[in-house]
Amino acid sequence: MSPAGRFAPSPSADLHIGNLRTAVLAWLFARSTGRQFLVRVEDLDDRARDDVARRQLDDLAAIGLTWDAPPEYQSAHGARYDAVVDELTGRGMTFQCHCSRRDILQAPRAPHAPEGAYPGTCRDLTDAERAERAATGRPPAVRLRSQVTQFTVTDLLHGSYTGVVDDFVLRRGDGVPAYNLAVVVDDAAQGVDQVVRGDDLLSSSPRQAYLGALLGHPTPTYAPVPLVLNTDGKRLATRDGAVTLAELGTSRALTLIAGSLGYAASSVEEMLAEFDPTALPRDPWVYAPG
Ligand code: GLU
Repeated sequence: MSPAGRFAPSPSADLHIGNLRTAVLAWLFARSTGRQFLVRVEDLDDRARDDVARRQLDDLAAIGLTWDAPPEYQSAHGARYDAVVDELTGRGMTFQCHCSRRDILQAPRAPHAPEGAYPGTCRDLTDAERAERAATGRPPAVRLRSQVTQFTVTDLLHGSYTGVVDDFVLRRGDGVPAYNLAVVVDDAAQGVDQVVRGDDLLSSSPRQAYLGALLGHPTPTYAPVPLVLNTDGKRLATRDGAVTLAELGTSRALTLIAGSLGYAASSVEEMLAEFDPTALPRDPWVYAPG
């Protein structure tokens, strides 16, 4: 399999200028390093949003991005994720968790337990305790029985980053594979060895790299790129208005993206000719419409 980079949008809303900029950067990183470029539709949560997914792909093509294989849809790969959960379960590396979100928030935790980490409630239950919890009727989530509490990843923009790895969810109680599992399984299945995405996902990388290592996959190169913010300093959203390709028009969107990266280019090919990852802006880009 040829090494590849990718862009993996969730079809929850039309892509905005910030998403498009991240997609352009993922394409630039892949193409400038001789990699294939792939697009993956992360529709496990938004299965019914086929229309949105189609518009996202059209918009990516309209700004000039090219990909080397038909886009994959996560909703078509249920068996792939279940097989990995089964494999880990067979290795004694999972447990069933009956906790609600509230149970987790209210659980007593060790004094130095990291904020937001799973407190371990269902990790080591006796058979009797397990039966009692199962009797509540709520279908259990499957969690990873993690052997570490943190993991370090190296990325192209921050250097080394160490983050929390807890007993994170692999498959939700409703049977839907969790984001962290699906990403790791798909990146490996598609030969993705370069992960360029918004730096809001920086803290997910240690969990994903750890899971990948457990599954015997090589760790991809990460490049978490700064997000785009609105003028209130909040993460840009489609509802902010004047941010989608339909609203901006292709040439304006490309000029804005190029300008935000310090290039006077009007196409992604021209940006590729100038692309220097070491000179990328490290701060969020604040997008002001108009
Ligand atoms: N689907 C995720 C999102 O749209 C991105 C996943 C990833 O790049 O790993 O936020």
